[in-house]
Amino acid sequence: MDYIKVDNISFLYDETEAAHRKKGDFVLKDVSFSVRKGEFVALIGHNGSGKSTVAKHLNAMLIPTDGKVYIDGMDTSDENLTYDIRRKVGLVLQNPDNQLVASIVEEDVAFGPENIGIPPEEIRERVDNALKAVDMYEYRLHAPHKLSGGQKQRVAIAGIIAMQPDCIVLDEPTAMLDPKGRKEVMDTILKLNREAGITVVMITHYMEEAVLADQVFVIDNGGILTSGKPDEVFSQVELLKRHRLDVPQVTELCYKLRSCGVELNTLPLFSDDCISMLKEALR
Ligand code: ADP
Repeated sequence: MDYIKVDNISFLYDETEAAHRKKGDFVLKDVSFSVRKGEFVALIGHNGSGKSTVAKHLNAMLIPTDGKVYIDGMDTSDENLTYDIRRKVGLVLQNPDNQLVASIVEEDVAFGPENIGIPPEEIRERVDNALKAVDMYEYRLHAPHKLSGGQKQRVAIAGIIAMQPDCIVLDEPTAMLDPKGRKEVMDTILKLNREAGITVVMITHYMEEAVLADQVFVIDNGGILTSGKPDEVFSQVELLKRHRLDVPQVTELCYKLRSCGVELNTLPLFSDDCISMLKEALR
């Protein structure tokens, strides 16, 4: 069964105007997609295309103007279900500084479970497990503001994991980080997805991160331009370029080589594949 089902949603921030507006004015227009339990989905697209607006629909922070979003079968527009939906889907934002609230790492991670009335002995266990899951256990007594950007973002993710969600939605979690921090956070997200089975929906500007997903959705002007497995999406180089979107660097390189006459049947997503394809083609 689909864990997330986005069923033909359209959205306008100012609901009072909805009746007077044309579809073209909506921020999201007839968007449909679904995510299976345990999947890792990447959302890519230009600034302002509607990616964050989609993300906020996945934990009932926003409710569609038209259409429905279902999380594990629960309709996000049913206010009686908002609390359950937010416990199942945790949202991680771009800037870790805006998400950390306490002066000690473990207190920060405990904040969410405390707020929902989890008993103290269970909180201790959840906090320890969450910090271990993001490889920050040894920093549990440190001050969050003294950590690196990547470490802060991993603590923010631990705070969400301590709520034991089925799914985490991350809105450009690596955007403010240096390459080392980006790798730490990506490794953590992949581990949570592959080892703990947590469903992941991640917005990213980095194509090298998007290629790691099971499915990629390309959002353009409030709609889905194309979607599929990373190789299906990034093989459509002309379409993506027409919409001024990037493809991974190795894909771009091989695309250009192919247009210069180098014989390549497929386009690679990873540098290792690129090397073996070129060795073969240039032999
Ligand atoms: P992305 O995440 O792809 O950068 P957003 O979902 O943030 O795109 O924004 C999509 C559109 O919605 C943009 O035109 C943006 O200006 C508008 N928008 C975003 N947030 C709000 C808001 N709170 N109120 C009104 N318009 C908004």
